[in-house]
Amino acid sequence: MTRKLDISNSLQQRAETLFPGGVNSPVRAFRAVGGEPPMIVSGSGARMTDADGNTYIDYVLSWGPLILGHCAPEVVEAVIEATRKGTSFGASTPTEAELAEEVIKAFPSIEMLRFVSSGTEATMSAIRLARAATGRKYIVKFEGCYHGHSDALLVKAGSGVATFGIPGSAGVPEEFVKFTLALPYNDVAALEEAFHKFKNQIACVIIEPVVGNMGCVPPKPGYLESVRSLTTREGSLLILDEVMTGFRVSYGGAQELYGIKPDLTTLGKVIGGGLPVGAYGGPAALMNQISPLGPVYQAGTLSGNPLAMAAGLAMLKTLGKGRRTIYPALNALSAKLVAGITEAGRAAGVEITSNQVGSMFTWFFTNREVFDWDTAASCKTELFGRFHRGMLEAGIWLPASQFEAAFLSTAHTSEDIDTTIAAAQTVFAAMRV
Ligand SMILES: *Cc1c(COP(=O)(O)O)cnc(C)c1O
Repeated sequence: MTRKLDISNSLQQRAETLFPGGVNSPVRAFRAVGGEPPMIVSGSGARMTDADGNTYIDYVLSWGPLILGHCAPEVVEAVIEATRKGTSFGASTPTEAELAEEVIKAFPSIEMLRFVSSGTEATMSAIRLARAATGRKYIVKFEGCYHGHSDALLVKAGSGVATFGIPGSAGVPEEFVKFTLALPYNDVAALEEAFHKFKNQIACVIIEPVVGNMGCVPPKPGYLESVRSLTTREGSLLILDEVMTGFRVSYGGAQELYGIKPDLTTLGKVIGGGLPVGAYGGPAALMNQISPLGPVYQAGTLSGNPLAMAAGLAMLKTLGKGRRTIYPALNALSAKLVAGITEAGRAAGVEITSNQVGSMFTWFFTNREVFDWDTAASCKTELFGRFHRGMLEAGIWLPASQFEAAFLSTAHTSEDIDTTIAAAQTVFAAMRV
């Protein structure tokens, strides 16, 4: 079977004259894996359809937000209803408070929060607040973690930055990143050393509690606890970047799963129900330093947008109501998929290992354990590319990079998983030669 992609290809050609690389976010390009990126025209449940009518079982899910699948009826209805009342007012609406209360119920470490329109804005603003609150300049991040594309955070970053093998970004003067320290993930000694070397100068440590942006990489047992106790001891703030993990690895995010209380939390992806939303929050004493109450400026024309708030609220209410069954089911089905494909690869003699936390997972093309950026970077990306192209041809949509996590939604069925594993068996068999 060879898919027809004639319409997609001509649409892609047009896009390439209009957008750099034909895309509005680099991870959507298929440069790292080769092959032609289909243009998507619709989605329903676990599936997406391209412009030529090919359908795919989707394990990208808009890079995480669509935990209920495409066009979840409660989300669609909420957005339509909100749209009829007006798309934006530049004034406060009651839905913002309703969504905030749902977030706070799930994240007891958050007393107050601020909605923004992206994860990038959330992390950038949380860092500004941490610097203001501590009066310190340095920040610590970890190699392979991605916290959006603000200048200070584009240092040894994950996601597209890792995919395209660049150390950071052109256009970011070194003076702008000289206060950013990038340390290896899962390495307590490296963090101890940084705190020693930069005594009383580190404003905050920002971390993906489960990394998704170098592929899925879980924290080693005790690692997050050590990061928490070191930051407390040194008077630095701990920012858990839960843009991906919030409402994903557990309803209350990684902080609930691992029992870690951060100073600040950043959120995005799932809380917007598929519309653009980010948030940062923490104790009132910290959040009161944000404008207009305090001296830390941060604003947004479309922040707390009524459609986005309605979508997020519908999403969180559905997840909240069903959480006792939804999360165990998602995790179990993810485990079945992850094990099925890993075993199929090994049976075919392919070097493969896997990481999974809840419904976030990655198959790494290596025999080594992957626990930080160096081990992730040692994977055979050429094998990943062949796997990706084969799976796409078989109607399975995976992230077009070794260094991105895949996801599951409540719309995926056990039959979808069986279909996906069977496809992988065929692809691996072809990869052996
Ligand atoms: C996706 C992501 C971001 C950036 O969010 P955008 O909405 O793309 O700006 C930040 N941090 C983490 C952990 C993410 O996964």
